[in-house]
Amino acid sequence: MSPPQQDADPRAEDSYSDSDSASDILNTANDEGWEDVEPEEDSQPVVGLFSADVYPDVRVMLKETRERYNFDLVKVQKEFDLDFLGTIKLVNYIRSEVQKGNKSPDVSSKSVFDDDSYLKPVLDDDALLYNLEDLADDSAEEGNNEKTTDKRVAELEEELELLRGQFANYRLAVQTSMSEQLQATDDSVPAKPVATKSEAATRIEDADEGYFTSYSTNTIHETMLKDAIRTDAYRDFIYDNKGLFKGKVVMDVGCGTGILSMFCARAGAKMVIAVDNSNIIQKARENVYKNGFADVIQCVRGKIEEVTLPVPQVDIIVSEWMGYGLLYEAMLDSVLWARDHYLAPGGLMVPSHTTLRIAPYVDSDFVDSHVTFWKSVYGFDMSSMLTNIYDEAIVTGAKPENVVADSAVFLPLPLHTITVEELTFLKNFEVTLKEDIDGLDGWNIWFDTFFMPSPTSKFNDNAIPSDMKKEGFVAFTTGPFETETHWQQCVLLADHSERKPVPLKKGQVIKGSIAYKKKEEGSRALDIEVKWNIDGVEERKQSWSLQ
Ligand code: SAH
Repeated sequence: MSPPQQDADPRAEDSYSDSDSASDILNTANDEGWEDVEPEEDSQPVVGLFSADVYPDVRVMLKETRERYNFDLVKVQKEFDLDFLGTIKLVNYIRSEVQKGNKSPDVSSKSVFDDDSYLKPVLDDDALLYNLEDLADDSAEEGNNEKTTDKRVAELEEELELLRGQFANYRLAVQTSMSEQLQATDDSVPAKPVATKSEAATRIEDADEGYFTSYSTNTIHETMLKDAIRTDAYRDFIYDNKGLFKGKVVMDVGCGTGILSMFCARAGAKMVIAVDNSNIIQKARENVYKNGFADVIQCVRGKIEEVTLPVPQVDIIVSEWMGYGLLYEAMLDSVLWARDHYLAPGGLMVPSHTTLRIAPYVDSDFVDSHVTFWKSVYGFDMSSMLTNIYDEAIVTGAKPENVVADSAVFLPLPLHTITVEELTFLKNFEVTLKEDIDGLDGWNIWFDTFFMPSPTSKFNDNAIPSDMKKEGFVAFTTGPFETETHWQQCVLLADHSERKPVPLKKGQVIKGSIAYKKKEEGSRALDIEVKWNIDGVEERKQSWSLQ
């Protein structure tokens, strides 16, 4: 059951410092020349029309544009009596001219920019296009002098309704044209000469494309969202710690459907940058818009390592990056890249820690169904299928009785400090059998996840999620002793084809080492190797691949 939601942060004094926070960048209070224009509470930063400067909101940007560049967008809009789409064309026309280096675009006639090609946004997620209502409000203020307030309010309401409808249509049209554009780009990019690219690089590039495509389907997101152990944990941490999120700039690395971004927006974040390189971002955009968060959450399509963001740093990075065996997918590499390039000093990683655990595994039923099975399938000998059967790590759900010793943590991952290099490792571990067994069938690996409220929170590497929860922290396990998650566990079967298992006694100590490394550089697949030694009775080494 989920803990009750709270408005106040129960561990507020433990939270990280506000100073140096990325949200200060958006705080205009101290910026010269902007004192007289207070940004609205739900304002959205916007890139200047004639410069790459980011302004706290559209009004401030337009004021600066009038004063510094002598260009009055609202005046031009009125002069040509531009409707919503006309104004969009005007904005995109100016932006495209400025991009070409022309800082004095010709606006002497409407025909200059009255072309449907200007409906395509020049900037990704251009906040100006999403806030054109602000322009309407500006002109409304002047109209108020002439008309009665009531009549004007009714007119404005009508106008707003119309704008909302046009805006929704425009947004959908933009999404469609953007995906068409992307497809067109993909198709039209000439294949690079084979000689310039190694086979491995091509393989990895193809695999990468497949990786992001796999995240474009509903099914995978449905599986993740319905994994309540996972999704509740993020929700509970964010909602139970609203104090940490209020007024902050958050980055959601790999936003998928946008769920974590929306949790953050609902918790009071000032701005959320939701990044994803899969087509699912289009759904995220729609979800964000339909739930009324378009002014807080900016969806950016692309790899986090390649996109241009509207802010130089963020206060909080939230991400659900965990893969099978924790590190399969190598998405953590991208999250750590984002941390090193964007997280403000003292900023918070959500989650903050994960730990990898290993335990000896015994399950003769599973071995029978997975291995012995092939010896007779519907009465046919399919033992050809047994070739390399022990080489693959298997993602499956173990039962508590399959784990015959207390597990050992072999890699703690403090997410504020760990480096990508440390994700390739060789670590020792030691476990003591809790019962007599006929033989070891292999190893069971899983991970635990912890959400500490500060980058400096004390954390014990051997922490157990259920104990941490009793202390009021948010944590979850993917191990076999609690509700199964979609990650299940990773089973490494010991190769019994040539060496029969040795019976072992309760109390016997198994000393081992485990190594993780990427299948090849840039690959998302893993090679895992375990060496183990049982009191000199059995000494073995075996490798598995997780792909
Ligand atoms: N945050 C969502 C989805 C998590 S799945 C949720 O919790 O439900 C991980 C997502 O990260 C996928 O949609 C994938 O496309 C995206 N992703 C992985 N690596 C990425 C990268 N380097 N840049 C951008 N998006 C990435």
